[in-house]
Amino acid sequence: MFNYWFGYVANISLVIWLSSRAFSNGQSQLSAARWAGYALSGLFLWTLSEYVLHRYLYHVLESPLKVGHDLHHDEPRSLLGVPWWITTMVLLGVYYGLARFLDPAGTGVVMAFVWLGYIGYCAMHHSFHHAHWKARWFVNARRHHMIHHARHDVNWGVTTGLWDRVFGTKT
Ligand SMILES: [Zn+2]
Ligand SMILES: [Zn+2]
Repeated sequence: MFNYWFGYVANISLVIWLSSRAFSNGQSQLSAARWAGYALSGLFLWTLSEYVLHRYLYHVLESPLKVGHDLHHDEPRSLLGVPWWITTMVLLGVYYGLARFLDPAGTGVVMAFVWLGYIGYCAMHHSFHHAHWKARWFVNARRHHMIHHARHDVNWGVTTGLWDRVFGTKT
């Protein structure tokens, strides 16, 4: 329970920390156009990561992640999530790995927005199982996910149906 909600605090802190890689002496190393381009790339990259991770890591490969996700399919309303300290370690590992070869400022900003996408995904997924908002986009997005709960082999995307459309797994 604590772990679940503290995850949001940890993830927001990570977004701030990753964005701060673009600053040195309080001065942004990137132009506004680059910020915008990297931000959009990061969010876009998240939507594909979400699809691939959900489809393969959560449903195909035998792993603790699959065990945790099966539990979510059994108890959709329980407050389950990958422990924040695991995602934090993975994210920092990826950042330091990439920043050895790529521009640390750009890497930080792209990854900050990938992670903002992850937070959006967590919040949307939580709402699908706990809220009944009437807004049309929410009703449609929620239906997309509820079909996944009924049929595990379709609708892997959560924040968008885009990749289900691209890979022909949308119902
Ligand atoms: Zn769900
Ligand atoms: Zn699933």
